[in-house]
Amino acid sequence: MNETGPPLPVDAQLIRSCIIIEDENAAPQIETSSPNKISKKNKTALKNKLQKILSCAVCLELRRSAIYQCKYGHLICAGCFGDILTESKLQNEIASCPVCRSTIGKELCTRNIAVEQTISALPVTCPYCLLQINPENYKSHKKCLCEKRPAICCNNLIGCPWEGPYQEKHKHQEQCKQLSANGYDILKSLNAMDEESKDEVNLYERIFELLSVDKFSYHDLQFRHCSYDDKNESYETSKFSAFDKLWTIHGHFKDKPSEFYYKLSLKGTLDKPFSLHYLLVKGPYSEMEIKPKLCQFTFEENSLDGPFESLSLWYHSDSLKGFFQSKRVNFRIFFFESK
Ligand SMILES: [Zn+2]
Ligand SMILES: [Zn+2]
Ligand SMILES: [Zn+2]
Ligand SMILES: [Zn+2]
Repeated sequence: MNETGPPLPVDAQLIRSCIIIEDENAAPQIETSSPNKISKKNKTALKNKLQKILSCAVCLELRRSAIYQCKYGHLICAGCFGDILTESKLQNEIASCPVCRSTIGKELCTRNIAVEQTISALPVTCPYCLLQINPENYKSHKKCLCEKRPAICCNNLIGCPWEGPYQEKHKHQEQCKQLSANGYDILKSLNAMDEESKDEVNLYERIFELLSVDKFSYHDLQFRHCSYDDKNESYETSKFSAFDKLWTIHGHFKDKPSEFYYKLSLKGTLDKPFSLHYLLVKGPYSEMEIKPKLCQFTFEENSLDGPFESLSLWYHSDSLKGFFQSKRVNFRIFFFESK
C-alpha cells in the first residue's frame, strides 16, 4: 500500500465508508434501525457489486496493480494486459479487448487512476488468515498482528528448524526439543545452519555473476488453470518468446496442497544444444512470496522439457491451492544464456 500516494478521490472515500471491514483495531459497529443508515446486508451487497464493477474483464479479479482500459472503458489488470499483448504479438494478431473486441495496445489504452485508487482503498485479504483487513492496518497486521503469519521458533539460533503459523509457536516452544539439547547437538545444528547460509551466499553471488552475462531477459507471466484430473491440478502460462525460441511453463500441485512444481519447456525444434540458467521470482503484481532458486538446464533436440522444479512459496498451506484456483498467479522469470 502506498501510504504517501495522492489523496483518494472523494468517491473512493465514500465507497470505503460503506464497506464492512474486519479490522481488529476498529471499534465494534453498532447496528441501528435508522432509515438513513445502510444495513449490514446492503453493505455486503454493495461490496459484491463494487467488486464486480471494478474487476478485471479477463481474470475477473480485483487486482491491486495498474489497471488499463480499452477505448470503451473495459478494465484489464496489468498482468492480463501484458499477457494479451504478448500472446497476440506471438500469433501475429492485433490485440483486442476481450469484451468489445476493440483494438488495444500500450499507445491506445490509458490507465484508469480512479479505479486503481478505489481498489487500493478497499479491504485487503490477508494471505495467511484470509481475513479482510483495512488497507491502513494491512502492513502491521501481516507483519506482527496476524495469528497465522509465518513464525520461527525462538530457539532457531541454536538450531531448532521449526517454522509454522504464529498461533502454534507458543505450543511448540513449550515442547521444543532444542531446549534439552546438549552442546554437541547444538554445535551440530550450528554447523548445519552455517552450511545453509553459505549456500545462500553462493546463490546470491551466482545471481549477481549471471547479471553480467552477455544475454539475459525477463518475462512477466501468469499461471492459468488449464486442466483438472482427480489427483493433479495443472497450470500453464501462455507461450512466450526468448532468445528467438518459444517457451511455456507448466505447473502442478503434487501430493501436498502446499507443494507446487513447475517445468520450463521449449516449443519447436533445436539444431544445437541450448544451455540456460533460469530464476523464477515474484511478479510485479503478485501477492506470493517466492524463495529464489537458480535452475540450470541444457535443452537438446530430444530433451525439450526441463526437469520439474519445486517452487518455494510461503502462503497459508490450506489456502495455497485455493489461491491458485481463484487467481491467475503473476510471476517473473529471468533467463540467462549459459556458455
Ligand atoms: Zn486480470
Ligand atoms: Zn472493450
Ligand atoms: Zn492475517
Ligand atoms: Zn523449537
